[in-house]
Amino acid sequence: MPQLYSWLMPLSDSYDGFLIDLDGVVWLGHDPIEGSAEALTALARVGKPVVFVTNSPRITPAEQARILQEHGIDACEDQVVTAGQTLIEITRNEVGDGARIYAIGTSGFKEQLKTAGFELLSPERWQEAAAVLVTGHPRFDYEELKAASMAARAGAFLATIGRDPTMPMPDGLWPGTGSIVAAVETASGREAVVAGKPERPIFELGLAVLGLPADSRVAMVGDRLDTDVGGAQRAGIDGILMAGNDSVPPGPKITPDHEISNLLDLVT
Ligand SMILES: [Mg+2]
Repeated sequence: MPQLYSWLMPLSDSYDGFLIDLDGVVWLGHDPIEGSAEALTALARVGKPVVFVTNSPRITPAEQARILQEHGIDACEDQVVTAGQTLIEITRNEVGDGARIYAIGTSGFKEQLKTAGFELLSPERWQEAAAVLVTGHPRFDYEELKAASMAARAGAFLATIGRDPTMPMPDGLWPGTGSIVAAVETASGREAVVAGKPERPIFELGLAVLGLPADSRVAMVGDRLDTDVGGAQRAGIDGILMAGNDSVPPGPKITPDHEISNLLDLVT
């Protein structure tokens, strides 16, 4: 009775390891989602490695690991992959350690780049930039747009965290990183490489950090059909939708490989 047997098996038995989104899966805003910590403990107990994969650009893996620990989840810095960290890795591969970079973003984002060993340029030194890295920040201005787009037009590697055009705020939708990237792309005639979900680089880094053999069965668990599930499937792994928070986006239909209502559904 293979079908009955599959009903009795926890879904986690079908996979060797998991990439797991944070917001909307482990917690929602600042509130923990019931069962998450318990489920992650159970996965660790049965030897299924987990890497947390988040598009959040402002928080370092170390800070993210500390927040996980505050939620009662036994996670270390090496188990967290962020879009910011992915952007740093792909830039390092492209232009080398210690390269000169023109960056648009928050002071926290620029600190991460400095810690990674890059030299950050002021706008008037755009001609020296090997790479232009773009994320959103509330004081974006014409001087930044000019420096970034002229450096990109001159051939600098152009990359960003993601293309979310807006971000939800209490009074409505504010322009997000994607709007600023679009301005740089329009002014430079170049197309930016995107590090974060739904694009491949963050999934590839997540899989590398997971460290399983190439033929392993890995699934991404996320609450967004487009970024998490669709991105995972395009990166060649399964996508498990944690249902409930997603609004179905327009465009090609994405069918999750499985649907769960919380992380406990993986292990029970
Ligand atoms: Mg999410």
